[in-house]
Amino acid sequence: MKMMDKGILIVVSAPSGCGKGTILAEILKDEKFFYSVSATTRSPRPGETDGVNYHFLKKEQFEELIASGGMLEYAQYCDNYYGTPREKVMEKLAEGKHVILEIEVQGAMQIREKCPDAVFIFIAPPSVEELRNRLSGRGTETADVIEKRVSEAAHEISFADRYDYVIVNDRLEDAIEDFRTVVRAEELKSVNQKNIIDEVLKNA
Ligand code: ADP
Ligand code: 5GP
Repeated sequence: MKMMDKGILIVVSAPSGCGKGTILAEILKDEKFFYSVSATTRSPRPGETDGVNYHFLKKEQFEELIASGGMLEYAQYCDNYYGTPREKVMEKLAEGKHVILEIEVQGAMQIREKCPDAVFIFIAPPSVEELRNRLSGRGTETADVIEKRVSEAAHEISFADRYDYVIVNDRLEDAIEDFRTVVRAEELKSVNQKNIIDEVLKNA
């Protein structure tokens, strides 16, 4: 099968605890996807590795990248910068890979302006109550932080209608299948099938 000339840029947002890490771990087993590692000025959490979870930068380094146009988008979130380094994203799209950006709402809206062909997916929990249960179950935050994240989540969910697709992560297998369905539908759009049409018409 002929590959697409250019991959699809996929923007994924979800409040903390909605399961995007769990869903993306499954999706990323397929090598047609590439996960864009963001840059941030926040400190690494225990277990996080530079270059794998994030590129951990000093504030000055981050600001230099902004000034030189090296960030595709960036936002300030909880007193730190977060941003998507441009170069790797462009390189992987040109190779035909689907590039996944896992970013918050402000950054997603910047991508909407700059990259009109990108696909926007919002992952929501089945209910705020279930989100609270999952955050407690994950055991990585204190009760205080969990309550903060839950109220932040309710605010973020109110932006879901700005996205092209909303996937409710109720049963995990269904959410993963929904994600793959969205990507397949996007692949089949005529705008993404131009080289395949050329192939069909070759020697006509
Ligand atoms: P995020 O990356 O969005 O912060 P995680 O992927 O870490 O969220 O998921 C939060 C917690 O919820 C984890 O403990 C995960 O195992 C659990 N979880 C994820 N999806 C589901 C689901 N569909 N049903 C039940 N638990 C889930
Ligand atoms: P955390 O500190 O929990 O890793 O991330 C905080 C928030 O920043 C999450 O909503 C995450 O999706 C978002 N984020 C991570 N990387 C980027 C990025 O490159 N750009 C933007 N705009 N947000 C990001």
